[in-house]
Amino acid sequence: MSKVRVRFCPSPTGDPHVGMIRTALFNWAYAKHTGGTFVFRIEDTDSARDSEDSYEMLLDSLRWLGLTWDEGPEVGGPFGPYRQSERMDIYADVASKLINAGHAYECFCSQEELEVAREIAKQEKRTPGYDGTCRQLSDDQKTAYRAEGRKPVIRFKMPGTTCTWTDLVRGELSFAAEHVPDYVLVRATGDPLYTLVNPVDDALMQITHVLRGEDLLSSTPRQIALYAALKDIGVGAGITPEFGHLPYVMGEGNKKLSKRDPESSLSMYRNEGFLPEGLLNYLALLGWSLGDDQEFFSLETMSKAFDVSRVNPNPARFDLKKCTAINADWIRTLSADDLTNRLIPYLQTAGVLPEVVSDSSLTQLKLAIPLIQERIETLNQGVQMLSFLLAPDELFKIDEEDRASLLDASGIEVLETALPVLEKLDNWTTEHIEEVLRVALIDGLGKKPKLAFGAVRVAVTGRRISPPLFESAALLGKDRTIARIRSAISG
Ligand code: GLU
Repeated sequence: MSKVRVRFCPSPTGDPHVGMIRTALFNWAYAKHTGGTFVFRIEDTDSARDSEDSYEMLLDSLRWLGLTWDEGPEVGGPFGPYRQSERMDIYADVASKLINAGHAYECFCSQEELEVAREIAKQEKRTPGYDGTCRQLSDDQKTAYRAEGRKPVIRFKMPGTTCTWTDLVRGELSFAAEHVPDYVLVRATGDPLYTLVNPVDDALMQITHVLRGEDLLSSTPRQIALYAALKDIGVGAGITPEFGHLPYVMGEGNKKLSKRDPESSLSMYRNEGFLPEGLLNYLALLGWSLGDDQEFFSLETMSKAFDVSRVNPNPARFDLKKCTAINADWIRTLSADDLTNRLIPYLQTAGVLPEVVSDSSLTQLKLAIPLIQERIETLNQGVQMLSFLLAPDELFKIDEEDRASLLDASGIEVLETALPVLEKLDNWTTEHIEEVLRVALIDGLGKKPKLAFGAVRVAVTGRRISPPLFESAALLGKDRTIARIRSAISG
């Protein structure tokens, strides 16, 4: 068998979405598993929809995720260029070769004529689709159409036989000829369509396996016919790739997860501080599993075990809660230094830390890591928990909802009691802070710990959800702690 060559070939039309990344991941894992090649190709032939920003985002996203490509933009490779917008001459050449060999033809039917034919087919209860009117046009007829000002599209001539293949995920599939009519390869403007450029590049880039979403299933019989025609005219190495159609990803309400769903956007995960490891781990579970109910695994474990035949053809449900829980598990596995380094850019983006981080902030951050590591599910939650400690004091603010619920008259009484006790405390350690507050607030004032410490917590950290109180106050230092309690008292 030839060496495995797979491709990830998105169109740069907006923010990358998780379904697309799942496709990239499965192809990447299959390449790694088989020692094959992962080709990254950009399908940017639709200038009205494609954008340079989106192209940059795609590259940046794969890099962030660690899904490195063996051939593609920036790294190059033997079959480049890997942006289709730079390959237009190739497509024009292949299209004319297909016509010359009788695999494609010029079709002059207008939109209105096609519409009428569709209506008639509907009334006669026939499968709608192009009826082949222009297949046999003589040169004179073509000249006459041109004289009328008609501009032809180029249509592929389907062989008229049933197309059957063994899908790597779904087993044997069959499409009867009547369901796959002749289809357009090149627009009347001369612009080549996905239907042409995608299989042409698969052929030229010697792709052996195509793993892609189930939404593309209906283009597969057309493409299989086109690969055969390309082989016939000597374009590419004559390989018809094996296909595996990955299951749909369903969102809320059992509807297909769509680009418009906020949880489908890759940037959302990145901005919230998901780890690439956590996100990929979760995406791997959308249609695949390690087989032993083990849901937490690394990319390396996945690629070692990855077997397309174990992809489940049933729709997979996207569960943000589960994705977040897996991310939290990943955060817990990081070393303190690693978590520190990953948090810093998020702290900087939020304005909690400056661009140049001082040694003292770094020391504080490192000391605070054990306080939050078990408590956060995303890096942004870490930012929220640590800003009381690391942000400049001018930016410190008490959450208004938490103030309303915990700093009522009773809360203020707690703070007024805590203040002199803390002022007197010389030995500013976690244990001593805890001890004097317990004595003063629980034993002395008779308050319930939850309310008493809740009030102090909101005053000192600004929020009801924070790292543990006594440790937090110890790290914050006596002066800053006392200043915050005073300011909370004065409202
Ligand atoms: N550019 C196509 C898309 O983004 C690729 C589909 C395929 O994998 O064949 O949908």
